[in-house]
Amino acid sequence: MNKFIPVNEPLLDGNEKKYLIECIDSGWISSEGPFVALFEEKFSQKVNRRFGIAVSNGTAAIDVAIEALGIGPGDEVILPTFTIISCVSQIVRSGAIPVLVDSDPITWNMDVSQIRSKITPKTKAIMIVHIYGLPVDVDPVLAVAKEYGLKVIEDAAEVHGQLYRGRPCGSFGDISTFSFYPNKHITTGEGGMVCTNDEGLAQKVRDLRNLCFQPGKRFIHERLGWNLRLTNLQAAIGVAQLERLDEFTKRKQLMGRQYTELLGGISGVQLPLARTDYADNIYWVYGLVLNEDLGINAETAMQKLLDKGVGCRPFFYPMHQQPVMKNKGFFKGESFPVAEHMYKNGFYIPSGIALTEDQIQQVSKKVREVLGT
Ligand SMILES: *Cc1c(COP(=O)(O)O)cnc(C)c1O
Repeated sequence: MNKFIPVNEPLLDGNEKKYLIECIDSGWISSEGPFVALFEEKFSQKVNRRFGIAVSNGTAAIDVAIEALGIGPGDEVILPTFTIISCVSQIVRSGAIPVLVDSDPITWNMDVSQIRSKITPKTKAIMIVHIYGLPVDVDPVLAVAKEYGLKVIEDAAEVHGQLYRGRPCGSFGDISTFSFYPNKHITTGEGGMVCTNDEGLAQKVRDLRNLCFQPGKRFIHERLGWNLRLTNLQAAIGVAQLERLDEFTKRKQLMGRQYTELLGGISGVQLPLARTDYADNIYWVYGLVLNEDLGINAETAMQKLLDKGVGCRPFFYPMHQQPVMKNKGFFKGESFPVAEHMYKNGFYIPSGIALTEDQIQQVSKKVREVLGT
């Protein structure tokens, strides 16, 4: 019996330990320590932004981005239904209204051709969410946003180090957000980053991250913020991870290509798209979508793979089907057939950076067994 293969495992064998020891030895473990500013500076440079503001996780990064853009009661924000709940929660809490578009069945990203028809006089922003390592087709989104004077938020949590037409993902729109959860391309355990070129927005995000304390009159508050600070310990790991981002994205790309080679040609199984005319896939995770006529849905396939010692994860459950959203009265009678099909029939197999070539072969063999090919 082979050892269980987890869906994700990070690699922490660079300078992580060394920098953590520096934190301990110097006594700097809080968010005031020097690694935080260093991580912000190096990360924002990497994604070609003037400002990076480190926060406690990727969800917090989105929350603070929405608040900093002044999105609030009655405003509409257009975003994909096929995404994580983090994208809608602050929109809803602020009193704004999420407006959804379906996915493209081939790229799995938001179908940008649906955006225009969703714009109303109340539309305030469009949220781009790059899915599973392949970017959204960004230029048409930026064009429509410009035409209607809309803000653009770019959730780049799944595309660190990825390029769109040669430009870094996370460099688009008014504000972009990243997560450093352990399954992302680089990790700080928990962590996130907000990036922008707008000095005013950057200052708002910094204030909101830190309870809106005011310089000079610390405990007098004009606005309500949050405590979303990243610690020096987390940032130390982040700096070490960032040193290896290029290596990691190349490795993930190789892993994806290896899976595609081993799993290609199974009839009734859709694999991730290798490239579009604007980007090569960096395979944040390696997803499979089973055809309905295969007679096995994602849930069954994942259970069978688990029985064979392979950890898998379901695809996102679309926002318009979420009980919490239905209970709040959103998306009544709306359906998005591509996203619904993707949830029902899609899942991803072990894709973490620590996965070995041998494990990729084992996983592929077991996938073929489960799918009867
Ligand atoms: C992971 C992820 C997030 C949330 O990040 P956390 O750090 O887990 O809060 C947000 N958006 C997308 C697209 C993600 O993949």
